Amino acid sequence: MRLEGKVALITGAAGGIGHAVAGLFATEGAIVIAADIKLPQKPYAGDVETIMLDVTREEQWASAVAAIVRKHGRLDVLINNAGIIAYEPLDKLEMKDWQKMIAVDQTGVFLGMREAVRVMRKQQAGAIVNISSIWGSAAVPGAHSYHAAKGAVRNMSKNAAMTYAGEGIRVNSVHPGFIHTPLTDAQNPDLNRIVIDTTPMKRGGQPIEIAYGCLFLASDEASFVTGAELNIDGGYLAQ
Ligand code: NAP
Repeated sequence: MRLEGKVALITGAAGGIGHAVAGLFATEGAIVIAADIKLPQKPYAGDVETIMLDVTREEQWASAVAAIVRKHGRLDVLINNAGIIAYEPLDKLEMKDWQKMIAVDQTGVFLGMREAVRVMRKQQAGAIVNISSIWGSAAVPGAHSYHAAKGAVRNMSKNAAMTYAGEGIRVNSVHPGFIHTPLTDAQNPDLNRIVIDTTPMKRGGQPIEIAYGCLFLASDEASFVTGAELNIDGGYLAQ
């Protein structure tokens, strides 16, 4: 039981990576609160509480975290996983689409970290894992707003890690490569094939392979790890 008794909030946990993280954390002894804008699409691997939380909404974050602390007394782990993707290049990117991306993939992480850190500072303990992407560290053509948001998440994680390192709060980012999820299943198969073909392992990852990285970073096994980037990408960023 690598997360025995820890209270963990995971966003975007109705499907894909967040769903795998929620199930794995529950089987490792955590009290798991799985948040999303929709209901889970299949059962979790363990006991999980579900709540509705749109990560772009400041007031929903405040009430969700307050309710967790009222019910469970603390918040030990936050996994900022909720996200969307878009592929418009810079010259075709409309303001409304830019704003939507930044709202979900960047502001959602800001709001989540801020709310969690306020609780974790009182506890002088906590672990935050922000899901960035290989596109938070390296570029491909197009997807301008996604690169912007995921790059910001990488640096926001390091900034929060530095700011709260002396208060028992660890903040790290995870950078998945291509992972088979509802998000990538809905994409153009030709595009998916290009990313898989340029991955040294020549395959996409499974959500559980990201969840195991999150498990390490959320657990006390990572007690000396903060401000780190964990690439789980079949070797993509090593090229
Ligand atoms: P997914 O299957 O689409 O799951 C993400 C979940 O977040 C969905 O249930 C989604 O709902 C939800 N969501 C969207 N907007 C939200 C909001 N405002 N508030 C709360 N929840 C919201 O995606 P995934 O592939 O598991 O991705 C999870 C994270 O990993 C994302 O941050 C993504 O950028 C990152 N990532 C994924 C890959 C990959 O290859 N899959 C690679 C690198 C990074 P809807 O379905 O209604 O949008």
